Amino acid sequence: MVSIVVLGAGVVGLTTAIELKKWNPNLEITIAAHHFPGDLDSSYTSPWAGANWQSFATGQDVELQKIDRSGYDKFMQLAANDPRAGVWIVDNTSYYTKYEVASAKGNLQGFIPWYRDSVKGFKVIEEDKIPFDDVSLGTTFKGVVITVPIYLSYLVQQNKELGNRFQKIPLIKHIKEARTLTNDPDYVINATGLGATKISGVEDRKENFSVKGQTLLVENSADSTISVQGFPGLPDEMLYVMPRRDGGSIIGGCFRPGDESVEEDKELTARLIRRAVKYVPSLINPKFKNNPTKIEIKRVNIGFRPFREDGIRIEVDPKYKWLIHDYGAGAGGYQGSVGMGRKVVEVLQKELSHLKSKI
Ligand SMILES: Cc1cc2nc3c(=O)[nH]c(=O)nc-3n(C[C@H](O)[C@H](O)[C@H](O)COP(=O)(O)OP(=O)(O)OC[C@H]3O[C@@H](n4cnc5c(N)ncnc54)[C@H](O)[C@@H]3O)c2cc1C
Repeated sequence: MVSIVVLGAGVVGLTTAIELKKWNPNLEITIAAHHFPGDLDSSYTSPWAGANWQSFATGQDVELQKIDRSGYDKFMQLAANDPRAGVWIVDNTSYYTKYEVASAKGNLQGFIPWYRDSVKGFKVIEEDKIPFDDVSLGTTFKGVVITVPIYLSYLVQQNKELGNRFQKIPLIKHIKEARTLTNDPDYVINATGLGATKISGVEDRKENFSVKGQTLLVENSADSTISVQGFPGLPDEMLYVMPRRDGGSIIGGCFRPGDESVEEDKELTARLIRRAVKYVPSLINPKFKNNPTKIEIKRVNIGFRPFREDGIRIEVDPKYKWLIHDYGAGAGGYQGSVGMGRKVVEVLQKELSHLKSKI
C-alpha cells in the first residue's frame, strides 16, 4: 500500500487529497497541516477568498486553461447537484471603464477571455446596453460563487467520507520532518501555499511572493457577481461584488504585491463602499432581499495570495524523489484546485509506473 502525507489543509491540499483518493482508493492519505478550516490566520489564505470562478489564464497559457476548466465543470456540477457544497450559479458580469478601454489603445480582443467558448452563456455587452456612463465594455457568462466557509467544511467532510485522515501539527521547519509525521510515508505533497518555500529543504528557482487583498463581508445581498476594472490613478484596485449563498456579499478588492501589513486600509474600505453602491444599487435597496439602506460590514478581510513567478508548481522535487510540489495558486486557488489535484494524480501515476517497471 502506498502512503501519502498531504502537507497543507487549504483548498489546494484538501482538494488534492480528494482527487488522489478518488483515483486510487487504496492510497493511505493523511492531511497534515498547521491550520485547518475554522482557523483564521493571515498566513492561511483559503478562508479569506471571495470566491468565484474567473480564470486568469492568458490565451497562450494552455496548461492553466486546462487546470481552470476542470474547476468550472466541477463547480457547475456541484451547484446543480450538491447543496452541501455552498456553491451556486450566478451571472458573472465584468465591466471595463472608458479609462480602461482607452488604455488598451484599441486592442479590444484583450478583454475577451480564452473561456468564451468553454463557459455557459458568454456574451459581450454592447455599449448602448451598459447602464453606466463611465463604462464602455462588458462581458457576461453563467458563473459560480463559492461560499468559502461552507465549501472548506464540505471538503473536510468529503475527505472524511473517503477515509482520509487528519493531523494538526506545529509548523514544520524542514521538509524532511514531513516524512516522520506518519509511518514513513512514501510520498509527501507540498500544498503549503504561502509557506511553501519558507520550509528548509524546499528550493525553488522561481520567486514566491504574496499579494495582499482586502475585502468586506457585508450583510447586504446582491443578485449577481459584478466586477468593474479601470479606476484612474488606482491601478491596484478594482470592484467586485459576489453574493454568497447563505446571504450577504463579498465586496472587494485590491491587488498589492509586497504589502505585508495586516491592517485595514480604511480609505480603500470607503472607496469600495462608494463603488459598490454606485454599480450595484440593489445592495442598499430594502425592496431587494430586505437589504439594509446602507452597507453593513460584518468583517473586513485581509488575505495574502500565494503567488509564484511563472505560476503554479506541480512536479517531483529534483532532490527529494518522495516530494511532489503543489503550490503557487496565486489569485486562483479555488478555480484551480480541482485541476491542480488532477495534475498531482498524473504526476504520481507516472512515478508509480516508473517504480513498477524497475521492480
Ligand atoms: C482576498 C482574496 C480573494 C480571493 N478570491 C479568489 C477567488 O475569487 N477565486 C479563486 O479561485 N481564488 C481566490 N483567491 C485565492 C485563493 O484563496 C488562494 O489561491 C488559495 O486559498 C490558496 O490555497 P492553498 O491551499 O495553496 O494555501 P492555504 O490556504 O494558505 O493553505 C496552506 C496550508 O498549508 C499549511 N502550512 C503552511 N506552511 C506549513 C508548515 N511549515 N507546516 C505545516 N503546515 C503548513 C497551512 O497551515 C495551511 O493548512 C483569493 C485570495 C484572496 C486573499
